[in-house]
Amino acid sequence: MTPQFHPYLINGPFDDPGLYIDFLFERRAILFDLGDLADLTPRKLLRISHIFVSHTHVDHFIGFDQLVRLCLGREKRLHLYGPAGFVDQVGHRLAAYTWNLVQNYPTDFTIVAVELHRDGRAFGAEFHCRDGFRRMGDSSFAVVDGVLLDEENFRVRIAFLDHKVTCLAFCLEEKNHVNIMKNRLEEMGLPVGEWLGELKRAVLRGDGDEAPVRAWWQERGESRERFFTLGRLKSEVLRIVPGQKIAYVTDALYSPENAARIVALARNADYLFIESTFLDEEADRARERCHLTARQAGVLARAAGAIRVTPFHFSPKYAGEGIRIQRELEEAFNER
Ligand SMILES: [Zn+2]
Repeated sequence: MTPQFHPYLINGPFDDPGLYIDFLFERRAILFDLGDLADLTPRKLLRISHIFVSHTHVDHFIGFDQLVRLCLGREKRLHLYGPAGFVDQVGHRLAAYTWNLVQNYPTDFTIVAVELHRDGRAFGAEFHCRDGFRRMGDSSFAVVDGVLLDEENFRVRIAFLDHKVTCLAFCLEEKNHVNIMKNRLEEMGLPVGEWLGELKRAVLRGDGDEAPVRAWWQERGESRERFFTLGRLKSEVLRIVPGQKIAYVTDALYSPENAARIVALARNADYLFIESTFLDEEADRARERCHLTARQAGVLARAAGAIRVTPFHFSPKYAGEGIRIQRELEEAFNER
């Protein structure tokens, strides 16, 4: 299976957090957290369509201005998500600048900001460059099952964590890959065509095996059709491969509630990026600061059944000793 998403941290483990997820077959990317963006090229930054901000401590949000600066004058719609209070904070950041010369731009760079509340409601507003980034178009919607974004080939899910403020953890779940076995189609006398797109969508939607599927095509100027159950086509002509899962967790107190939410979000993740701010010898300090230790992060990764785990967000006090954090996490992750 060819992976469609390539995740990597935008900075070193001692620097500001941010996970860039590149879409390998589209000129597009999404970003989890918005720390310092200096190491990303403008080309990479301009691919970003959606940004998910865990919380607005400065190291997770300071990249905002860099991105606005770069997008100014371009036709772009940028979606930002964050915890309660986030839409006002985006508005305040924009209001800190003077926008008297933007009305005549030929383009309308737009920021769509959405904030998530623990009761499952989301509230959004838009900020248009041409209108001097005034807040407008307030709207709201319900977030069902933690799914914040649901597109054709992936979804983004959130979990609410406690970091003395509400902090969001994120997970990108690629939907199943639906591969069509052309030789099986031929054996059944079925040509390829538009109907296969509908068949794939029915599988990705999770339609039941009894659902009817219509195959249709043109043959010597005549319309032809045949009907099947979805279940039959699934077993005879499709190969369904599970998609990748990429989870991102920062910043969090090590509490039973947080642990349960992190493990549920990151369950069987192909990639888990998880903060490991302190060594476990400083567990008291970690608790005070509402951060995880490397050992705690490793225990959570193991409990979640993650395949790979990458620690980040190291405290600067361990400068030059990052390897100790890495080792402590790995030991807990691999413990029998
Ligand atoms: Zn932080």
